Amino acid sequence: MLDVAVVGAGAAGLFAAIWAGRGAAGAGVPARIAAFDGARKLGAKILVAGGGRCNVTHWRVEEGDYAGSTAPAIRKVLRRFGVEETVGFFAELGVELKREETGKLFPVTDDAHTVLDALLAAARRAGVHLRHPERVESVAPMDGGFRIRTATGEHVARRVVLATGGKALPKSGSDGVGLAIAAGLGHRVTDHVIPSLVPLRLPEGHWITELSGLTVPAELVLRSGGGKRLVSFADSTLCTHFGLSGPSVLNISRHWTMARVDDPQARLELSWTPGMEAEAIDRALVEAKGRGVGAVLRAWLPERLVRALCEAAAVDAAATPQQLARDRRRGLAQLVGATPLPVTGDRGFTFAEATAGGVPLSEVRLETMESRVVPGLHLAGEVLDVDGRIGGFNFQWAWASGFVAGTSAVAALAAQPT
Ligand SMILES: Cc1cc2nc3c(=O)[nH]c(=O)nc-3n(C[C@H](O)[C@H](O)[C@H](O)COP(=O)(O)OP(=O)(O)OC[C@H]3O[C@@H](n4cnc5c(N)ncnc54)[C@H](O)[C@@H]3O)c2cc1C
Repeated sequence: MLDVAVVGAGAAGLFAAIWAGRGAAGAGVPARIAAFDGARKLGAKILVAGGGRCNVTHWRVEEGDYAGSTAPAIRKVLRRFGVEETVGFFAELGVELKREETGKLFPVTDDAHTVLDALLAAARRAGVHLRHPERVESVAPMDGGFRIRTATGEHVARRVVLATGGKALPKSGSDGVGLAIAAGLGHRVTDHVIPSLVPLRLPEGHWITELSGLTVPAELVLRSGGGKRLVSFADSTLCTHFGLSGPSVLNISRHWTMARVDDPQARLELSWTPGMEAEAIDRALVEAKGRGVGAVLRAWLPERLVRALCEAAAVDAAATPQQLARDRRRGLAQLVGATPLPVTGDRGFTFAEATAGGVPLSEVRLETMESRVVPGLHLAGEVLDVDGRIGGFNFQWAWASGFVAGTSAVAALAAQPT
């Protein structure tokens, strides 16, 4: 008989287990806490995060950095365990974090192993029994708790924290089974569960794919079919053999997919000169009398890109703006300021960093992360309908929701006779 069974020992599950263990010790309640994880490699996602450096959090985290459930609901959970608490928690474990220019926080070692090792050691110190690899196949409510069937046996637990993640990077163990477990218990899962923070594909042979390897600061703009600007991200943008990647593209990917559900005409544009619209570019071309348009553009853009843009706009880069037909010149300015992107899709969960969609926050009590549907069940992390932008926001969500779920599960036990 377990007191708390945490299903999934990723970022949210480890945090929930650690805080459950600490809470039990603090309240003087002896608690048997186990965290089950089915993956071959424990903490695989923490290890690959941030290019192997693990972007633990961001110096400033607000509900506006997330999508999915409503902003007030997200804020309520984030407030319970903020950036300061995260920094303090890791410092206490001997993991010092440093803030980089982008605002992202990484361990000073620049090595994600430091983060994972510290979390695993903290879990063991908190008395958590890490059961790994042991995949949970089903969770069923029973009188006074839950019956948990795993690949190797059956367990009974008074409380369960479901922290199975979403569907991103399925080889790390997060393959969506947790969502099926939640649905099996009677939870609603959003109609759309899609890859978030995922590269986007362009048609084969599109001129941007010929620029593979080029990274530039650019702005991605999502417009409705009617032309309304819906959302935009300006950041580093990478041209690849399949299409586009880099923070700006990853950040906008889930918005593009979701927008197309209701508005199939929604479209993406790319500005190679963020902050400078087509009209301003055209004016600059006209004013640069006597210089070739390529030379004018080279003041802002790399040579390779200038050549590709001129070619795509069917413009001779050596021609002066005055030698060009007005439509041609304007067409070039339009392409520089707002290249239409005929995106054919995304690269799927295998290449996604997060999942958009999941169990809506409206299905849990935000003070405890306890299910409104199944008493005794708590939920934390990416299994919920909350996804952040690039920058450490997804981990901060995992830490905050894991903290609330873990401490609340134990607090409820302490208040409940065995
Ligand atoms: C390549 C990559 C890089 C990333 N980089 C960053 C970054 O730098 N900063 C950032 O903030 N976010 C980053 N993220 C996102 C971040 O890793 C996730 O948002 C976060 O790990 C989610 O935590 P979680 O615990 O909810 O889910 P997960 O980390 O996915 O953990 C879920 C765990 O549950 C286990 N599990 C699932 N089903 C079962 C089952 N049935 N039985 C037992 N165990 C099960 C899985 O094996 C897994 O270990 C990155 C993601 C990827 C894929």
